[in-house]
Amino acid sequence: MRIPPQTTAPLLEVRDLSIVFDTRRGPLTAVDDISFELAPGEILGMVGESGAGKSLTGTAITGLLERPGRIAGGEIRFDGQRIDNLPAEQMRRIRGKKIGAIFQDPLTSLNPLYTVGYQLIETIQTHLDMTKDQARKRAIDLLAEVGIPAPEIRVNHYPHQFSGGMRQRVVIALALCANPKLVIADEPTTALDVSVQAQIIALLKRLCRDHGTAVILVTHDMGVIAEAADRVAVLYSGRLAEIGDVRQVVKDPRHPYTRGLMGSIPVVGSTAEKLTQIEGSMPRLLEIPEGCAFHPRCTRAMDKCSAIRPRPQRLNGGEVACLLYEGDKK
Ligand code: SF4
Repeated sequence: MRIPPQTTAPLLEVRDLSIVFDTRRGPLTAVDDISFELAPGEILGMVGESGAGKSLTGTAITGLLERPGRIAGGEIRFDGQRIDNLPAEQMRRIRGKKIGAIFQDPLTSLNPLYTVGYQLIETIQTHLDMTKDQARKRAIDLLAEVGIPAPEIRVNHYPHQFSGGMRQRVVIALALCANPKLVIADEPTTALDVSVQAQIIALLKRLCRDHGTAVILVTHDMGVIAEAADRVAVLYSGRLAEIGDVRQVVKDPRHPYTRGLMGSIPVVGSTAEKLTQIEGSMPRLLEIPEGCAFHPRCTRAMDKCSAIRPRPQRLNGGEVACLLYEGDKK
């Protein structure tokens, strides 16, 4: 069961994080002053359109941000330690042992030249004090835990001998093999058949619950978030639009952008013939407008929305960055 953030020290604190890309046209801000916390064992969904900054935020937390991208401001604290300014080697050790990563394409994490057993055993032995036999047993147990049939045989197979869904199960085993405190799962089901997507999300949720692992689940799919997450952070143009308890946000979204996203989740039994679509598209980094970045698409926009940038303020137990709620009760 999730430990509520207010009763325990956060596992992860992201404060005023900004990520900039240095280009010939000057610096482009891709993540702009984002703050949030994550409690131990909590699943935080991070949702937004492509380019909203959600994957970049996850990449910055894992220390895998590459040039020309860089952290231009703010800080990231993990498990009581500031990690955004650590040397690469120190960050690599944290990444393998304390922070696991699952990417959209399982083949990003798996080397096609080695058996899955070899890769699991190597990772386990790098981070845990185990003999080869102990690590092999742990690898087989983990494969069984993620639902790979006949794991004692499959441990000797190569990644190409697994289906897409089974490969992603192997990647989940790999991400969890050193018992990390946090897993960053970036679009973990996007590359999979619709029929196996729900199984993988259910598996990820169950395993992280069982192991007490916190998760940042990055996705463009609000339906996945509603299914799996405890809290949700909605990003737009690199800024935090809304964050809050997932049930609260799904039931009563406050930010007009979140409302638009909610309208795109199909509801079983609904008589609506067409899902709500948000008109227009998210601006490119070069073209983020003044004031509220969402104002050209917002059906509730007011005159001041093109001049004043809304900052996240507490509302209904969460936070919303929208001028509609200025001065509302916290
Ligand atoms: Fe819409 Fe204005 Fe709120 Fe932005 S600040 S979401 S434009 S109402």
